[in-house]
Amino acid sequence: QIQRALRSLCIPLERLHIMKGHMMQDMCKGLSRQTHAQAKVRMLPTYICSTPNGTEKGNFLVVELCQNQVRTLLVTLYGDGNMSPQMMYKIFDMPDGIMQGEGEALFDFIAQCVSQFLVETTTSDTSSSEERLPLGFVFPFTCRQTQLDKAELLSWSKGFSCSGVVGKDVVQMLQSAINKQELSHVDVVALMNDTVGTMMTCCTEGRPCEIAVVADKGSNCCFMAEAYLVETAEETSGRMCVNTEWGCFGDDGTLNDIFTPYDESVDEESSNPGEKRFEKLVGTLYLGEIVRHALIALTAEKAVFTGTDTAVLKEKGMFTIQHVLDIINNEDGTTDVRRVLEVLGLQPSERDCGRVQQICRAVVGRAATLHAVGLAAILSYMCQTRDMETLMVNVGVDGELYKGYSRFEEILQSVSRLLSPECLATLLPSRDGSGRGAAMVTAVALRLAAQRCAVNEVLSPLRLTHADLEKVQALMRQEMERGLGKHTNATASVHMLPTYVSHTPDGTERGDFLALDLGGTNFRVLVVRVAEEGISMASEIYVIPAAIMRGTGEGLFDHIIDCIVDFQTKQNLMTQTLPLGFTFSFPCQQVGLDKALLLTWTKGFTASGCVGQDVVQLLRDAAHRKQHSGLQVVALLNDTVGTMMSCGYDDPKCEIGLIVGTGTNACYMEEMRNVGTVEGDQGRMCINMEWGAFGDNGCLDHIFTHFDRVVDETTINPGKQRFEKLISGMYLGEIVRQILLVMTEKQLMFQGRVSSKLQTKNIFQTKFLSTIELNGLALRQIRTILNELELDASFEDSVLLREVCQAVSLRAAQLCAAGLAAVVEKMRENRGLDRLSISVGVDGTLYKLHPCFSHNLQKTLKELAPNCDVSFHLSEDGSGKGAALVAAVACRAA
Ligand code: ADP
Ligand code: MG
Repeated sequence: QIQRALRSLCIPLERLHIMKGHMMQDMCKGLSRQTHAQAKVRMLPTYICSTPNGTEKGNFLVVELCQNQVRTLLVTLYGDGNMSPQMMYKIFDMPDGIMQGEGEALFDFIAQCVSQFLVETTTSDTSSSEERLPLGFVFPFTCRQTQLDKAELLSWSKGFSCSGVVGKDVVQMLQSAINKQELSHVDVVALMNDTVGTMMTCCTEGRPCEIAVVADKGSNCCFMAEAYLVETAEETSGRMCVNTEWGCFGDDGTLNDIFTPYDESVDEESSNPGEKRFEKLVGTLYLGEIVRHALIALTAEKAVFTGTDTAVLKEKGMFTIQHVLDIINNEDGTTDVRRVLEVLGLQPSERDCGRVQQICRAVVGRAATLHAVGLAAILSYMCQTRDMETLMVNVGVDGELYKGYSRFEEILQSVSRLLSPECLATLLPSRDGSGRGAAMVTAVALRLAAQRCAVNEVLSPLRLTHADLEKVQALMRQEMERGLGKHTNATASVHMLPTYVSHTPDGTERGDFLALDLGGTNFRVLVVRVAEEGISMASEIYVIPAAIMRGTGEGLFDHIIDCIVDFQTKQNLMTQTLPLGFTFSFPCQQVGLDKALLLTWTKGFTASGCVGQDVVQLLRDAAHRKQHSGLQVVALLNDTVGTMMSCGYDDPKCEIGLIVGTGTNACYMEEMRNVGTVEGDQGRMCINMEWGAFGDNGCLDHIFTHFDRVVDETTINPGKQRFEKLISGMYLGEIVRQILLVMTEKQLMFQGRVSSKLQTKNIFQTKFLSTIELNGLALRQIRTILNELELDASFEDSVLLREVCQAVSLRAAQLCAAGLAAVVEKMRENRGLDRLSISVGVDGTLYKLHPCFSHNLQKTLKELAPNCDVSFHLSEDGSGKGAALVAAVACRAA
């Protein structure tokens, strides 16, 4: 019979694995917005989003509501890694009746304790009422928290039943009671559960603690979860501590098969049968009772205490946790067991002593094992959701069972390791209870609030309002008009260059064309076939050696002809004369479709004798020198035009081209009557805006930030391309880097330490923004990027970095939208329409690969140009395809 009883208390390993799975499922259920209401494991958000980093300092008051007691504590932190906080405390016993009395009386009593404690501990630096004294409130009951300092009591437990508190904000109740005591300098800034306090207590410098297990009268656990998974809270970035409230695990029947008849009896006799099933297997409030019921059953089966009086066993609560612990902690001999049992009024034989000890060990051992199952579920959940192969984590442990049972720690460690072999948990004993941790939470809350203000101050110049963007839009419109005007063109920052492209494709273009693409990332030669079935092409990338880029113009164009010949030979095209379109992405003053004067070289080209010359003629001259007679250059175009044309082939509404890559630029179809710089009033012409230079005349000075000015000053063309420098891929990373430098200097990141790498220009690439802003990206990956920059990034640094990147890329997208809004609104007015429906062909890696840029651009554009329906098409190889199409349209027109 004894063996059978012991076996029923012992849970096989497979069963533990299944339980762990159930626990994980229930955790997910508790976190999900849809299923939260029915979840047994409540997974309550705590709004604690950070663990201490050791810089916290000042005086912090803590008041903790405990069973029959109120504990007050004053902690002084010195910003020294919290190694040696100074602490003063006092415990007040609660008068009879308060626990079941009126809520107001309870809070008045707590406030009186605070007041009395402050009188007794007052020193010169805590008494001055000018200095605010922040207070953390440890309130170990189930609450629905909506902010760190806002928590509605859901239900009382642990013998409390004060009236008028359930459903109320307990922070506010405490604050009002405190105000009545004329302690108006005391601010209740944080409320937390004792579990959270324990977790925080176990955090010391360089050793964050991210889980706490409290094995006490009840049992509970909390841990740092990825905030976006906590759907019941608004926070989405970073992490948040979740209070699991796992005591109710099993209330839906999941644990029924491991419940023994003894457990069922305990449950039936409790004040809440059927509830808190897990807690009733593991909480110290119940362990003595389980033993008592086991002994009653075994007595009835005549397996123990035969022939003696066991009436005393009928008394509920006679067997306390202390008795159980006294019995099992004695390893050798049964003297202590006998003494305990005799004090209880039993008359055990030698054999009874041994058997009672075995039962006690089985009950307590099972409780420890079940705690390990819960811990293993948390560990695996954290490991999975952080997308890690192995998780190393510190676990704070506290509570009567942990402290009183010598093998608890060993079982917790070994069983959780067995169930979650991918995780390595280091158990940290909590020495100071939850009070010190509560002070830390309070301190962290204040530190974060101060940091938030400082971060907002740094980033606010980058945050543009709707009105700011409308102003940019209006300015762009003004500069466009000036750029188009015959007499104002010279002083406009947006050059509005005519392209001599008068038509977008209509889809009937046919033929084979050659195309050149110079001025993008690569130099390419292409052959493009525009046929009934669609467009097909072949291309080859050629290198332009630095010596040729910076040599003579003749050398450069000779090299280009060599590449064309090589390509035609390879493609077997030497015998044909194909019309050629030349995508030349440098600013040009175009005087005809095949006549364009180079205004200035950019992008590292300096070939001599070209500026001011007709680029098409330079190419023809080279062909002549090389005796290549089969070359027919029909058009020169900018890459924005190529982009518009290539999308226009599939969508006749595409009359705008946009590039957001290394640089940014746009073109669109303007009415000839508005183009003052070209003769004629009939029809339309595509205008290459060269909008990157918008603001070079000072008109955008009001939106430039300190960071923009620094970035501009360190470029090869200071004062030039100011709009582009707010938007495009070549600069966004640099802007972020400048912000990081300032934030570090202000001690807001990286603990104020700047790595020499971060001081290196262009080290922070724009593609990093794309990675960092990916939704749901594990913060570990952000840290990897930062570690590559030799920055020792904390988890909070990673969260801040994401915020910085978002601010920079959002502003870029919004400004781009303001520019486009000016364009589409002008087109709508040009055409006298109430609504304009139009498409934009877009190219550029930033637009294509950044996870939010296009969405932010389109959303802002809708807001700024509500009367235009604008759709966006990605251009596929605009430079090549577009060049062929311009050539085709030109040939058709000819
Ligand atoms: P180009 O403008 O020279 O024709 P691209 O359109 O390919 O070339 O743009 C290249 C620029 O895109 C690079 O300078 C870089 O700043 C940026 N970039 C590269 N990869 C990414 C990425 N994953 N996310 C955002 N921007 C990127
Ligand atoms: Mg390009």
